[in-house]
Amino acid sequence: MRETQSTCPYCGVGCGVIIESEGTQITGVRGDPAHPANFGRLCTKGSTLHLTATAAVTMQTRLLHPMRRTARGTAPSAIGWHEALDTATAKFAQVIRDHGPDAVGFYISGQLLTEDYYVFNKLAKGLIGTNNIDTNSRLCMSSAVAGYKKTLGADAPPACYDDLNHAQCLFVVGSNTAWAHPILFRRIEDAKRANPAMKIVVVDPRRTDTCEIADLHLAIQPGTDVMLFHGLLHLMLRESWTQPDYIAAHTTGFDALAARVHDCTPERVAQVCGIDARDLLETARLFATSAATLSLYCQGLNQSSSGTAKNGTLINLHLATGQIGRAGAGPFSLTGQPNAMGGREVGGMANLLGAHRDLANPAHRAEVAALWGLSEGHDVPATPGKTAVELFQAAADGDIRALWIACTNPAQSMPDQATVRRALERCEFVVVQEAFATTATCAYADLLLPATTWGEKVGTVTNSERRISRVRQAVPAPGATRHDWSAVTDFAQRLEALLPSSSAVSLFPYALDTEAGAEAIWNEHRESTRGRDLDITGLSWPMLDAQGPQQWPLPEGRSSGRARLYEDGVFPTLDGRARFYDVAYQPVAEAREPRYPFALNTGRLRDQWHGMSRTGTLGRLFSHAPEPVVQMHPEDMAGRKIRDGDLVEVTSKRGAIVLPAQSSTDIGLGQSFIAMHWGEEALSGRSHRGKRLAGVNALSNPAFCPESKQPELKHAAVQIVKA
Ligand code: SF4
Repeated sequence: MRETQSTCPYCGVGCGVIIESEGTQITGVRGDPAHPANFGRLCTKGSTLHLTATAAVTMQTRLLHPMRRTARGTAPSAIGWHEALDTATAKFAQVIRDHGPDAVGFYISGQLLTEDYYVFNKLAKGLIGTNNIDTNSRLCMSSAVAGYKKTLGADAPPACYDDLNHAQCLFVVGSNTAWAHPILFRRIEDAKRANPAMKIVVVDPRRTDTCEIADLHLAIQPGTDVMLFHGLLHLMLRESWTQPDYIAAHTTGFDALAARVHDCTPERVAQVCGIDARDLLETARLFATSAATLSLYCQGLNQSSSGTAKNGTLINLHLATGQIGRAGAGPFSLTGQPNAMGGREVGGMANLLGAHRDLANPAHRAEVAALWGLSEGHDVPATPGKTAVELFQAAADGDIRALWIACTNPAQSMPDQATVRRALERCEFVVVQEAFATTATCAYADLLLPATTWGEKVGTVTNSERRISRVRQAVPAPGATRHDWSAVTDFAQRLEALLPSSSAVSLFPYALDTEAGAEAIWNEHRESTRGRDLDITGLSWPMLDAQGPQQWPLPEGRSSGRARLYEDGVFPTLDGRARFYDVAYQPVAEAREPRYPFALNTGRLRDQWHGMSRTGTLGRLFSHAPEPVVQMHPEDMAGRKIRDGDLVEVTSKRGAIVLPAQSSTDIGLGQSFIAMHWGEEALSGRSHRGKRLAGVNALSNPAFCPESKQPELKHAAVQIVKA
């Protein structure tokens, strides 16, 4: 038996795993006791990874050969890699020649490795000359990115997991950590056991499992977080709980913010947020006066039409109270996906460039062009790229004609499915690069490219605490699957021959299908970080092999990374000061009204991951929640004569779905909740009275935050009636 150290491919906790294998077969998995994210623990998803990689599951679910459809709606046929990539190259080159580079787009994934992300980004922005490359991280973390940049000056979570052991107050907002980040939650439980005096406040419209450990649960009305944070600051000022010395020495913009929150009285905030004013005061006291306060937050803040404002106004509280840059204190966004952080580091999004550079900054564009060796006249384009919702809208409008989708399933996971599916149908050419043949998006592909996945891939990922871990290959790639970066490099090398030369030498000099090729890509990325806030010029793959996962920054000359940032009170802004975010509270984009009187919330279940292409292969992972349901408050159900298990029709302005109702006092009156994991295809085309069962994103709202462009997946106004 062989043992291989690698990383769990699910959530952003980034747990280390040891993969057991015999020959070509993965036979077991266990937590890596040496990995500083999990110290040997795994949750239900991580500990069953090997069961999702059996020969039987591989045969039933994996895409093992390139496939081409001669017509939409027909079964695809297997072809060879040369034919597949020649077809893709010819089609992309033709669209670029006929309609310009912005007529193509790439939609990639926070589950890709850093090396995959790097090559996709260079292909789009360096070779083709379009910024139309975005990722499902737009649905996950872009509000956290914008919130950090607007306040602290850089997309860098300042805290680390060890801060749980030093915090005296945990402020958990919009995060069901117990289910979405289970191993981190074990660490919270450990910290509470070791320090029973530590206070935990959970802010969530639902009473989730995370609330079980809370001293105080604030069940705010959906989308009212900014009002809550402003109200907390109002009380901190009134009670003299802010830190004027810290504010004066390390920040700017406090006076305007203080004036704004003047009107956010406890009475007003209690009324808007639907909470008790006494709980508001107690929360303000705990947050401001505890020796160290750590905020943990996730999609409840991010997936919002005011996501950046929610992130920024929470960070305001840390700056106003000096709860940052010390052990146990700071704002700490939890990453949803395993490598949303790594993707941001290499600039793999429509508005970003590598090493935390900004597309809108001409000097940054010039730096990246120089790093890539682009020849004169082949700059990184200045035109902003289309972000996720915009990208599919542009395809639906006919402006994007060729789309390359990798390692993600937008035909299930994007909001407003009707528009997304119209986009996929209208596109002239759709490439889907996937490990699994079972995703809804595969049905729309003209060309399917088979990718390696967990246990087969080689590269790196970065977890929520800025820690870079190796992903290692335990078994050979099955069938004709290839690493994502390798297939894209092969495509890019072919495309270079058809497009006007953008460089004197190939932009993609990586040895295909080898570990050395992946390491060369990572080394190129490493050099691009020199002098930046995430400088990793002191890190190497041999160092990761010898010393294990490392946190950034780790510049040349240092032997280890930095656990927490801003301990010196200096921020990566022009004047070294953090900036308060002065912004007005805005309610959710789609207000409840008589025709749509319920607030619909979405989120994760404990034992499933995303669209279930992997976890859905394992029966035991359905024992926790066997089917999709809409959860409602029992009084709302009684008022509509709906009983537990009755089929109900849930309707929004964008669509309707039918599913069983389930009563729950964890849901507030006038609210409802549907898990995000099931899509139309996962429900196997089941129908009720002629209506096909579909996933929650038939209903969800594509309205997005104007700063981060992250859509409001956490709220839509819906009607619910007995079907
Ligand atoms: Fe994997 Fe996240 Fe579970 Fe860790 S907590 S084992 S990273 S799913």
